[in-house]
Amino acid sequence: MPKTAGGKKWVSEQACVYMAHTCNLACVYCQHPPDGRRQDPAAWAARLKKRGVKAVSLEGGGEPTANPDFFAWIRALKKSGVRQIMLSTNAVVLADEAFCARACKAVDFFTVNFPSHRPEVYARITRSVKFPLALQGLLNLARLGAGDRLRLFHIVSAFNYKHLPAFALWAAKNFPAASVSLVFVQNKGRALSAGGAVPRYSQAAPYIKAALARLKLGGCRAAVQNVPLCALNNFEGFAFEFQRWRRGDAALEASLEPKAPARQCSLCTLEPACCGARQDYLDAHGKRELKASRKDPASIIPERF
Ligand code: SF4
Ligand code: SF4
Repeated sequence: MPKTAGGKKWVSEQACVYMAHTCNLACVYCQHPPDGRRQDPAAWAARLKKRGVKAVSLEGGGEPTANPDFFAWIRALKKSGVRQIMLSTNAVVLADEAFCARACKAVDFFTVNFPSHRPEVYARITRSVKFPLALQGLLNLARLGAGDRLRLFHIVSAFNYKHLPAFALWAAKNFPAASVSLVFVQNKGRALSAGGAVPRYSQAAPYIKAALARLKLGGCRAAVQNVPLCALNNFEGFAFEFQRWRRGDAALEASLEPKAPARQCSLCTLEPACCGARQDYLDAHGKRELKASRKDPASIIPERF
């Protein structure tokens, strides 16, 4: 979840509103593939009002903007007292300029799942020919003044990790006001059946670090998510979970799957500030890469995000 953008304050928790029921892409590693079941906006609005929820994130299984009632949902949520709306989207529908302009008024933050700046890699991952539409959606957001309310959500998988440094240069050049999250893929949903979607931390880490360095040098806000601190030596300050810990939150949001227990982690001083490895990763690659540290997490300097 993005916690800062456009000068707004850090948000510790957002309620996820599962308003999507279908998708216009078919990503090979989709972790929550759509099941076609429609949700009731009035029922969601009533629940959120009862809980006094003020910040929500619109997401899936599926693509929220593929829901024909997208703006009716937003109206219902705002009526229930929601004040801050983050949209998690693949940006394909935002290629429609009129839709994008309306969305820019209705939505506070945009998290755009954009898995590659290279059309052939994008096509392989999303199993679609919609690269030009997604790119146009991103360009529309920037042109309509939402560039600083934009987070590029780049899932790091076996299909794209070697392109990360080039992606970083591309992002810094074309979307300098955006923040960039490099999010390590989870071995769930379609990723399980695809097989081979999850690289080892040790394979991807050099590329992740090179990308983070390029983003920083390019003036972009950047973070890495779902990668343990022991895989990020000297780049720990970019870890999203470390940043949460530093602000006084738990490293992992309550709604997320917990860290898998590991002996190395029980001996590690970085544990409170680290995402650890999740069971889905250990099922794919085991625990051998984890290395207990004696570093004081308070000594790590946070990067700008
Ligand atoms: S990852 Fe997102 S964009 Fe891709 S198929 Fe799943 S819901 Fe759709
Ligand atoms: S050993 Fe465990 S707690 Fe320590 S940095 Fe690695 S994954 Fe995190």
